[in-house]
Amino acid sequence: MEQPVAYGVCAEKRRLVEEYGQATEAYLQSMHELRARTPTSRKADYEQLRKAVEIARLKAEKVRVALERHLSEHHC
Ligand SMILES: [Zn+2]
Repeated sequence: MEQPVAYGVCAEKRRLVEEYGQATEAYLQSMHELRARTPTSRKADYEQLRKAVEIARLKAEKVRVALERHLSEHHC
């Protein structure tokens, strides 16, 4: 696999770091929404929000694992 390097920084690493930042941000936002809305939510709405938080958490976790794997394989 080609690893383009821009300005001395591994492009794939930059992409993963960026993606991880966005995924983490999305997770925190969904978490915030869950906390803000739980007291007034019906059970079905709560379940939906809780599921969204879980999906966002898993995505952030997946990107984190990909980033760690890249760092250990690519030593960048
Ligand atoms: Zn790299």
